[in-house]
Amino acid sequence: MSAFENALKQLDNAAQTLGLDFGTVAKLKDPDRVYEFEVPLVMDNGSPRSFRGYRVQFNNSRGPYKGGIRLHPQVDLDEVKALAFWMAIKTAVVNIPMGGGKGGVSVNPKELSSAELERLSRAWVAYMAPHIGPHQDVPAPDVNTNPRIMDWMADEYKNITGDASGAAFTGKSLGRGGSEGRRTATGQGAFYVLGELMAALGMELAGKRVVIQGFGNAGHHFALLAQKAGYTIVGVSDSKGGIYHPDGLNIEAIMKTKEEQGSVVASDAGTSVSNRELLELACDILVPAALENQITKENAGNIQAKVVLEIANGPTTPEADAILWAKKIYVVPDVLANAGGVTVSYFEWDQNLKNEHWSEAEVFQKLETVMKNAFKAVWDTHKEHDVDLRTGAFMVAVRRIVEATKG
Ligand code: NAD
Repeated sequence: MSAFENALKQLDNAAQTLGLDFGTVAKLKDPDRVYEFEVPLVMDNGSPRSFRGYRVQFNNSRGPYKGGIRLHPQVDLDEVKALAFWMAIKTAVVNIPMGGGKGGVSVNPKELSSAELERLSRAWVAYMAPHIGPHQDVPAPDVNTNPRIMDWMADEYKNITGDASGAAFTGKSLGRGGSEGRRTATGQGAFYVLGELMAALGMELAGKRVVIQGFGNAGHHFALLAQKAGYTIVGVSDSKGGIYHPDGLNIEAIMKTKEEQGSVVASDAGTSVSNRELLELACDILVPAALENQITKENAGNIQAKVVLEIANGPTTPEADAILWAKKIYVVPDVLANAGGVTVSYFEWDQNLKNEHWSEAEVFQKLETVMKNAFKAVWDTHKEHDVDLRTGAFMVAVRRIVEATKG
């Protein structure tokens, strides 16, 4: 199944428990608007090229469309639609006044020079400028987009429209209206949610063994926080492979190795494992923080963790969800676990519109409140209806979206 089909299947599960009628479900499955266009680029050597660009504005019942822009060769319309749909669910789960959207360009940014990347980013905005804006659609970073790219995009938008608020894009650098805490927000939010789940399950966190697939921005920030809090990180990986030590790994030392040598596999702190083996290691908490479709019906039966914390978007397929739930493994769904990123993006938008700059402590305090409230709503729904946490989260979100649609 494609990512979008998986996403719709998750919606069907919640819609069934909620007893929604066919028309309401059909409306929820249908994106408001899809933009698919060519992004022209003159390469440094003067040759013209062009890349496929996307923006899907899925649902704005609860506020302006909100969602990142992904630069990756595998970006296609199906993936952008799935990610845009999940954003609509995510903003509703955490109850921030935003809708859901997503964008991207099918390109390998690692093959572009800095100047080419800047022209590509500005060209994406030149096409989309009439359709986005602080009160319409607010793009953010995603895979391979960073504060520098968001700064270029915000600057292009200002040049075209004259809007100097900066509020049309989030994830900007601190000097250009970015928010304190945005860089670490996803890991921080996931950490708060895990703490709430451990308390709800009556599990002691000290010494609980954690395995993390994906040691990128979100994964490594989470690893640092978890280690500081007393969890034992026994396995980590990146695209080149993973390492494992049953007594725990020193995350700061591994970050240093990755910075200097490009991968966690260069570390001699543990035994080498493949990414496939890593997912099936003996541990208490498994954290997929890399890619979609990692836990499938092929390997779900071998997962030994008691909790799966989805920092990545879409790492577990619907078939795998059913297998894990039958084994009473708690999957904290992406739409809750990784919602810290969009929450602090919303804070950035809010600060830009009010012309304010909040301290990191203020940002994290507000984030903690949002994440804890979201967890409680999802947990209570899971308990009340005896459904897994993903279905619980979708039920919370869908109720809120449908309510807003009714006006
Ligand atoms: P990133 O590019 O910084 O890191 C991705 C990491 O995954 C890298 O370490 C990479 O080496 C690793 N990786 C790639 N392929 C892999 C594979 N086959 N097996 C194991 N590891 C692999 O990206 P990120 O921003 O950390 O995002 C990671 C995931 O989290 C994505 O699914 C993203 O959509 C999701 N997410 C991120 C944020 C955020 O704020 N960064 C917010 C919400 C969701």
